[in-house]
Amino acid sequence: MSAPQSNKIPVQQVDLDATKHRVHPRFVTGFYQNIRVITMYALLAAFLLLPWLRYNGRQAIWLDVPSQHYYIFGMTFLTQDFYFIAAFAIIAAFTLFMVTVYAGRVWCGYACPQTIWTHLFQYVEKWVIGDRNKRIKFDKEPMSATKVFKRFLIYFIWFVFSMITATTFVSYVSGTDALYNSWQMIGFIPFPDWATWIWVSIFIFAFSTYVNAGYMREQMCIQICPYGRFQSVMFDKDTLVVSYDYERGEPRGARKKGTNPENLGDCIECQMCVQVCPTGIDIRDGLQVACIQCAACVDACNEIMDKVGYPRGLIRYTTERQLAEKEKSRVFRPRFFAYLILLTILCGGVLYALNDRVPLEIDIRRDRNQLSSLNQQGMIENSYIVKLTNKTQDAHTYKITLAPQEGLSLEIRFKDVPLDAGESFDMPVSIYGDPDVIEFGQTPVTLNVSSEDGKYHVSKQNVFTTQGQ
Ligand code: SF4
Ligand code: SF4
Repeated sequence: MSAPQSNKIPVQQVDLDATKHRVHPRFVTGFYQNIRVITMYALLAAFLLLPWLRYNGRQAIWLDVPSQHYYIFGMTFLTQDFYFIAAFAIIAAFTLFMVTVYAGRVWCGYACPQTIWTHLFQYVEKWVIGDRNKRIKFDKEPMSATKVFKRFLIYFIWFVFSMITATTFVSYVSGTDALYNSWQMIGFIPFPDWATWIWVSIFIFAFSTYVNAGYMREQMCIQICPYGRFQSVMFDKDTLVVSYDYERGEPRGARKKGTNPENLGDCIECQMCVQVCPTGIDIRDGLQVACIQCAACVDACNEIMDKVGYPRGLIRYTTERQLAEKEKSRVFRPRFFAYLILLTILCGGVLYALNDRVPLEIDIRRDRNQLSSLNQQGMIENSYIVKLTNKTQDAHTYKITLAPQEGLSLEIRFKDVPLDAGESFDMPVSIYGDPDVIEFGQTPVTLNVSSEDGKYHVSKQNVFTTQGQ
């Protein structure tokens, strides 16, 4: 922004403990805060409830890392399907870039977990102590039984929230059944019977939540978060940002109610925009890395403007082109289209791959000890291990057959291979070759696998060799 004071970016303190200069934001209501609170609590509810959702009798989203099976709404992914996860991550990153080009740090202000949990933890302080002024006063009060009790209550509620967050997070990996139905009795007391990795993960996530939302807060956004740092590179003159209309507001100054002195701008210096800011900055100093674009200052200032009878929008969502150059912003610009085209191609590719994907996997490994051998009937034998994986959500029985080829026959230990949903099985198979019919050297062979209902079918090639006897 080209406001004259935009270069007054406050010197950031490299101190990750936000309690030393704790920000006590005033809770504000208004158009943007309503959107923000609804979005934040909807996302929070989705995070807490999704592990409980069932699809075909199984946890709908279950990233079962220990067994390397990842279940997402009826689809089973294995580690070898990792390219899907990579593709989803790339799509998420480009969506974020595209949204940032258009709407700035809307992710930070409305959807980032750090913002949501910090808001939640600050709300606990408000509930126990009171709004901003009471919290500031409370911090300065000498230690007393009431102060100790209120502090303990806040820490206890934070601890409960952190534990709920950690167990929910881990339940996406361990599964809700393993997490909430595993109990053992220690004496007369029921105690969770969890694997070590679950205990360690819950401790790490609970500790991180408690420290991030309770202590680090805005310091996380200012000092650590890489997105906060590089988002300015993605901004251009047409990116929406929360800005103070310097020309309209300055010179700022207090005035008597109902007056509009000619020597003053519209900013009445009430400090409300600073008091509601969750990161404790003054938007009137210009665009700053600590501004998470939450628009709390927009709502607060609009409320003040209403009260003093001035037009709304002294602080507003605008663009540099509109505010400084007094020109119309361009929504559809080359960078926006570049991201859109890239995203369309990526999403199309992933949808095509998902649609084309057969939820049955076959992998053929040769017996490494011996390339081929002669059996008592004088036939050349090649041995393989066929690994079958049922990637559907239901049990199926599969049949393995050899694509017809003169002089070659298949011997298999089991005619039918029943597999549960997500189950894998290593099946030893042998292919026999008639030395009078097949050519010396290597012959391509194809194994076919079909489900009993004929719904799923895959084929895989390998070679039959006459060498190594
Ligand atoms: S809330 Fe508006 S009027 Fe009050 S200090 Fe901030 S910019 Fe000025
Ligand atoms: S300056 Fe305004 S938009 Fe930026 S973080 Fe503070 S309250 Fe939110």
